[in-house]
Amino acid sequence: MEIAVAKGDGIGPEIMEAVLHIFKAAGAPLNYQFVEMGKWVFDKGFGNGMTPEAKSTIEQLGILFKGPMETPKGKGVKSINVTARKTWNTYANKRTFQTLHGVNTVFSKAGIPIDLTVVRENIEDTYGGIEHQLTEDVAISRRIITRPGSEQVIRYAFEMARQKKARRVTCVHKANIMKITDGMFLNTFHKIAQQYPELTVDDIIVDDLCMKMVTRPESFDVLVLTNLQGDIVSDLCAGLIGGLGFAPSANIGDNICIFEAVHGTAPDIAGKNIANPTALLLSGIAMLQHLGLNATAAKIENALLYTLEQGFHTGDFGDKATAALNTTAFAEKIIAHF
Ligand code: NAD
Repeated sequence: MEIAVAKGDGIGPEIMEAVLHIFKAAGAPLNYQFVEMGKWVFDKGFGNGMTPEAKSTIEQLGILFKGPMETPKGKGVKSINVTARKTWNTYANKRTFQTLHGVNTVFSKAGIPIDLTVVRENIEDTYGGIEHQLTEDVAISRRIITRPGSEQVIRYAFEMARQKKARRVTCVHKANIMKITDGMFLNTFHKIAQQYPELTVDDIIVDDLCMKMVTRPESFDVLVLTNLQGDIVSDLCAGLIGGLGFAPSANIGDNICIFEAVHGTAPDIAGKNIANPTALLLSGIAMLQHLGLNATAAKIENALLYTLEQGFHTGDFGDKATAALNTTAFAEKIIAHF
């Protein structure tokens, strides 16, 4: 089986190397086509952050496993990540946040398990970057929400919830203020919900959700949100389970899927071989499952969970009394536990 791989920027190459090393040791039957994509490609003069060869390889193979990519700074420059999601219409961003034994948090210490799935709309909202300066003191940003765009992500969320026999599907919104845009998203949610009578559904205003999420996160299961609110709530959820080092994601489209960590390029720790590869590894495990390679996925997942449970950790979390492992050593520990 062949997939496209983009190592990304910042900590991307370090964590990708660690994850592919684990895949190889686990005998994952995958061949990689490494594609040129990222800020470094943008700097070579490719305005969308990828070469034409990279684009056609990804379109031919249908699966992209990617490291984080830096958004070039400057007016009029679009995010490479947003461009990729739009180019291939990966309309749903599925992000899972689960309690991991050995990763101590306020909630794990209190015996409260967390198992949340955020489905973030991935291509609309304020991410069009349509902003302009009206006068010296007034700036405008346009927010686009469409009914077809809302329908496809909400339908994906319900199908996924049905498959995982979700306890609850919650639409998160700010329709009390953004009555037309979020109102359309919310109405679409309740209309589609009628086709899933076996599921418990409700909706909640985003600020109320944030408060409830930090007081009783165990009461939620699947959340579906518009793009910007989904982005912010995702990082909040990552904090509940130990940080961005543990949050995987999948960008789902009808023809192309992109698997990547929720976090960014972590410029503050790049090049030091200390980043936590777990989020990218969990994204890779989800990719293996998506490809039907369930036995390999289970082998890696079990070794990862056992490694964490045994108290081995990178420096971004864990017991300060035990020595932190660097990225490479942490990957080797996982392999030793196959
Ligand atoms: P970030 O997620 O890169 O970092 C936030 C904090 O979390 C930093 O302190 C960082 O050290 C830490 N962190 C993140 N991942 C970690 C890991 N695996 N192990 C240990 N610590 C980790 O967010 P940022 O600093 O706001 O963004 C940096 C760049 O990344 C920006 O250019 C941004 O646009 C880009 N970005 C890319 C993606 C993507 O490619 N999907 C996502 C988010 C941000």
